[in-house]
Amino acid sequence: MRKKEYNLALSKITMQLLFWLIINLTYICAQSRSRYSDIPRIDVHTHIGGDSIGIVNFLKVRKILIETYNVDLAMFIDVGTSENQIPDLNKSIYVSKSRVFTCISDFSAHDGLDISPKDLHVWLDKGYVGYKIWAGPYYRRLGEREEGFRYIDNIVHEPTFAEMERIGMVAASIHIADPNGPYGKRTEWLSDPVEYWREITAWRHVLERHPNLVAVAAHGNWLVCQDAQLDYLRNMLATFPYLYVDLAATFQYFYLLDHENLRDFMIEWADRILYGTDISTFSDSKEVKLYAERYIRTFKILETNEMVEGGFFGSNPIQGLSLPRDVLEKIYYKNALKIYPNLKDQLSELGYRVK
Ligand SMILES: [Zn+2]
Repeated sequence: MRKKEYNLALSKITMQLLFWLIINLTYICAQSRSRYSDIPRIDVHTHIGGDSIGIVNFLKVRKILIETYNVDLAMFIDVGTSENQIPDLNKSIYVSKSRVFTCISDFSAHDGLDISPKDLHVWLDKGYVGYKIWAGPYYRRLGEREEGFRYIDNIVHEPTFAEMERIGMVAASIHIADPNGPYGKRTEWLSDPVEYWREITAWRHVLERHPNLVAVAAHGNWLVCQDAQLDYLRNMLATFPYLYVDLAATFQYFYLLDHENLRDFMIEWADRILYGTDISTFSDSKEVKLYAERYIRTFKILETNEMVEGGFFGSNPIQGLSLPRDVLEKIYYKNALKIYPNLKDQLSELGYRVK
């Protein structure tokens, strides 16, 4: 081959290689960035605590998400921690331009709720956006103790729910039961289906007594680990128009459900589902990247049809749901703006165009 022909062939190969590289890079970039960058996201179920280090680390996660996946985790609701300490809203981290909202909370309902019903409106007026109550399996709190209130429908809690219903205080990410998987995969959390249904039924009693209580049941009301549970959740949502669910810590159980059933559920009940993760506060800034990756996994599950390795927790492969835009908008932020106080105004103040 003459030198001229040789050079021509070489440049042809170089051009082909370059073209191949550009195509692949474009593909990789498209894969690693959300198609829905313009939809703000609100995580309604976090435990980032009242401490500023946790919140600062959390804001770093937000920054990474913008840089790597081009999505905006616009706001978070802190539902408190098991110490039942209520964060001080006067701290600088909460005041103007804040992306953090917080709740009053009680993680030991089995020993009686600490906050007096007559004080609830004071907290609401101060800017706390809801009342988080943990009412999971009683033995996780009471152990072997006989005394205590095993179920959420205990009459002792009635004045609290009645007052919340009256003043419009949201039952924020109220925790009912624990995950109960299908036979053979029951989960370590609540392996006994008889006890599981006692807890679910007790919650139903509360909603029957307080039909106007706006409640966000945490973790999909823990009715998301079997297809029949999902049908029961359909029944709950159809019966109680002010019942909502958050998705915190549910993603890792999606593999237990029929993919089409779950997708249909999300589309049918999109008005009543809120995005959440259950992220806890963390002090090690090295974990920032790890948590950002976990967030991205949940976004991919909701937005794409990719096979995703794990949810926010866990590592089971989960088939993405590829939900339509209008469904994503409701789940990511519109439903949250509808039910929690103050969020909509704050989002506008931060410069978002809120319809
Ligand atoms: Zn939680």
